[in-house]
Amino acid sequence: MNLRKLAATFGLLASLACAARLAAAPSRDWTRPFPPFRIAGNLYYVGSADLASYLIVTPKGLILINSSLETSVPLIRRSVEELGFKFGDIKILLISHAHDDHCAGSAQIIKLTGAKYFVMDADVPVVESGGRADFHYGSDPSNRYPPAHVDRVLHDGDTVQLGGAVLTAHLTPGHTKGTTTWTMDEKEDGRTLHVVIVGSPNVNPGYKLVGNTAYPQIAADYKRGFAVLQSLPCDIFLGAHGAYFGLKDKYARWKNGEKNAFIDPAGYKAYIADREQAFEAELQRQSSRK
Ligand SMILES: [Zn+2]
Repeated sequence: MNLRKLAATFGLLASLACAARLAAAPSRDWTRPFPPFRIAGNLYYVGSADLASYLIVTPKGLILINSSLETSVPLIRRSVEELGFKFGDIKILLISHAHDDHCAGSAQIIKLTGAKYFVMDADVPVVESGGRADFHYGSDPSNRYPPAHVDRVLHDGDTVQLGGAVLTAHLTPGHTKGTTTWTMDEKEDGRTLHVVIVGSPNVNPGYKLVGNTAYPQIAADYKRGFAVLQSLPCDIFLGAHGAYFGLKDKYARWKNGEKNAFIDPAGYKAYIADREQAFEAELQRQSSRK
């Protein structure tokens, strides 16, 4: 979302409530180029310094997770090509959740590549309406983006398969109704590594957790999401924003020869626990205000 505006509107209270997102994404990092690199197995990073996009390379073509902003598309394309792959080989496009910083570029990528768009059921009306159906931002024209047609509606636990790659879609709702955490296994040095790409566990500024008529079950959904996130085995911790998992620091270590820099089960557990605590504190604050 439009961070500067959000920050200005909601000020300090909001930044406390949503420290991760505001601190994570001073918007320059959203559009700042970042070197593409191989994370593990056939999984590559092709996003910006904060808006994470992932490429899964298979003999049958490519899977891309997160189209990001409309302006991100040329940057993602350059990253894919720099790694030696063809942008036009993207067969399947997936997203972390239906907010513009992860899905606004989808229509353009689908047009350029002919990729099929697979989206979690509850986020489908949002991406197909270009953000108009969003429970919180729907009435704000600054959060609109080109609508994109969804080719396959995903449900919790569905798998996406291409050329031997298997990704599982876990519904971790609350941040949006269809927020999706992706998992897959990657082989590296004879070891199987569990990869988790967190969809977003964050409560945005202005989100009503109590008495939300547009999303009555929002608080229960967040709780369900945290239970799912806690249940997932994780070796390689990734997410929709680089700041969730410390992309810059880990990349610097990786570049220095620390090949296991992205293996961080403890960091994953700590992040989820911290975000759950932030959610519970905000829920408590809103409940006691009633
Ligand atoms: Zn979001």
